[in-house]
Amino acid sequence: MSAPDPAALAELRGNLDAIRARIDTACRAAGRDPAQVRLLPVSKTVDEARLRAAHAIGLHALGENKVQEALGKWQAMSDLHDLRWVLIGHLQTNKAKYAARFASEFQALDSLRVAAALDAQLQQQGRALDVLVQVNTSGEASKFGLPPGDVPAFVKQLPAFASLRVRGLMTLALLSDDDARVRPCFVRLRELRDRLRQDAPDGVAMDELSMGMSGDFELAIAEGATTVRVGTALFGRRDTPDSA
Ligand SMILES: *Cc1c(COP(=O)(O)O)cnc(C)c1O
Repeated sequence: MSAPDPAALAELRGNLDAIRARIDTACRAAGRDPAQVRLLPVSKTVDEARLRAAHAIGLHALGENKVQEALGKWQAMSDLHDLRWVLIGHLQTNKAKYAARFASEFQALDSLRVAAALDAQLQQQGRALDVLVQVNTSGEASKFGLPPGDVPAFVKQLPAFASLRVRGLMTLALLSDDDARVRPCFVRLRELRDRLRQDAPDGVAMDELSMGMSGDFELAIAEGATTVRVGTALFGRRDTPDSA
């Protein structure tokens, strides 16, 4: 492929600067160090040329919610050796084999069947995977993730899967303009993480809180997010609707 288009680079740089400024402001307001908050660019539906531009401006990890779309992009961009792929969407057991091939991190673990399928595939390939447990903090039936009350017993089972490195929790808040409805989702995830930390099984780390997207990441940072997942604010509006 040819070098990224200068106009595309400039637009992405501008968006990235604006996001970093928002992160800095939110961190300052919360008395936190911006270095403690990882920005994960979410690249679902974004085409290869723009992803190459993102890589060129220093974004070396991309979040995708569909494993097959991510697999195709990984194959197309395998020349970019330092590009890491983070799966942030629900995974079906029968697609664990694809995820195990290329993902460096999976943020949507919510069943033992998927954990077992991933572990078996990873063992075969001699790979390991960072994982976050997805929690349904909004109580919406349409959302994936475990109910908060099920998470402690679930996490206790995870040391059985030697290829999975458990790092923490992930959630999608309620989609709403009303902070008073969004914020409790982030509070729930943080409180759950703090409780789990007290008796995490050996080999299970409970440091990561992946929460906050383009519209709500300031609130998530105020509540302790260590990773914010940002698509629209970086790449612009998606034409294709997506389901999370
Ligand atoms: C699409 C998506 C995001 C990013 O959403 P934006 O509102 O575009 O920033 C974050 N997390 C998950 C799981 C997603 O599917």
